[in-house]
Amino acid sequence: MIRISTRLAAVALAILVALAAFFVQRSLAQAPDAGVIALTGARVIDGTGRAPLGQATLVIRNGRIEAVGAPAAVNVPAGATRVDMSGKTIMPGMINAHAHLNIDSEVKMPVRDQLVQRLRTYAEYGVTSAVSLGSTQADELEGLKLRDEQARGPLDRARIFTGGLNAVGKTPDEARKSVDRLADLKVDIIKFHINGTPNDMTPDIWGAIIDESKKKGLRTAVHIFYLKDAQASVDKGVDVIAHSVRDQDVSKQLIDDLKRKNVAYIPTLTRDLSVFIYETRPAFFDDPFFLRGKALYGKEVATLSEPARQEKTRNDKQAQAIKPALQQANKNLKILSDAGVTIAMGTDSGAANNPGRWQGYFEQVEVEYMVKAGMTPMQTIVAATGGSARAAKLDDLGTIQPGKQADLLVLNANPLDDIRNTRQIHSVWIGGRRLAMAGGTK
Ligand SMILES: [Zn+2]
Repeated sequence: MIRISTRLAAVALAILVALAAFFVQRSLAQAPDAGVIALTGARVIDGTGRAPLGQATLVIRNGRIEAVGAPAAVNVPAGATRVDMSGKTIMPGMINAHAHLNIDSEVKMPVRDQLVQRLRTYAEYGVTSAVSLGSTQADELEGLKLRDEQARGPLDRARIFTGGLNAVGKTPDEARKSVDRLADLKVDIIKFHINGTPNDMTPDIWGAIIDESKKKGLRTAVHIFYLKDAQASVDKGVDVIAHSVRDQDVSKQLIDDLKRKNVAYIPTLTRDLSVFIYETRPAFFDDPFFLRGKALYGKEVATLSEPARQEKTRNDKQAQAIKPALQQANKNLKILSDAGVTIAMGTDSGAANNPGRWQGYFEQVEVEYMVKAGMTPMQTIVAATGGSARAAKLDDLGTIQPGKQADLLVLNANPLDDIRNTRQIHSVWIGGRRLAMAGGTK
């Protein structure tokens, strides 16, 4: 046993008390403002469909929303950094529930850098998360790596969630193995295709994909075109219809089943637009808002501006057939939205070997088209935020509610007046951090 004199013990105790007091004081002085930001005075559209709040106070702590409401109802901690957002509208950052994050193999830039550039471009257009429904071999693993890294934050790019390669198989057993491989890679969702052609997987094969995914606790999203394929995949338990039904009006049975089984529907209207719109040079090629993405878009703009290519599109029967298909898609979107089906926002932007599906710009066009199809701006904003989060089961994203990540799109004008006001970007926030915009802001 060590003998300590009474005097030495008293000195030690005094030092301990002083130290404790110092640390308590320090933590008291620092705790209230550590990472706390209060955005004040803005209209807040929270992404749930509730009526917007006017002149709200939104408190962010350590990247997450701590409180949101009328100033009288929200306590702003002493020492919080206050940012006056009077006259602005704050909505959740948009979530693209059907994106792709493929690289351009001809571009001499490391895979990771290419993916980061694409995620940055999404973010600059107000898209704070992208769910990739289909990688290529070249970018599958880097996409997953970026997904894993984002938990560490802070981020200066959109979040990525990814399904990796699409699930496929020539037999049910192969299909299951394909899902098992993806599950081992810890993908976020499983995607498969039913094109409505003789080359398709048979129902017992894609049925095995759904079944195996359920066993692994993974959601499934299906590519379809025809009503019969949408219905068949819903019958077998798919979670997300990743494109519009484009051959005929949706049936009462499909509507009822989508609602009853809580299946989300992603219209991807701009995907169809991209098939035929480059038959001539679109006016938006000169739009300054589009040109913000020039660093990424430039090469494809050059390709799509070639007269020979435009003529080919004009003479391509398949491309021309998508025009009435898009009209059908618009009609079905209105029917399904009116019926109360969960609509998510997706574009198919960034898909490999499909130039003209602009990551960032097309999500902005997509919401405009959703309103043109007959949804209200509020319904469309809910689809592009909370609806997309539900489709991909991103539980801490998509709405402005306590506990959620502070992924925000701050606008200079009210998108409920005109959906195109989602382009009036003041700032984009990801995990409570304001993004430095290469394109600049007003
Ligand atoms: Zn796709």
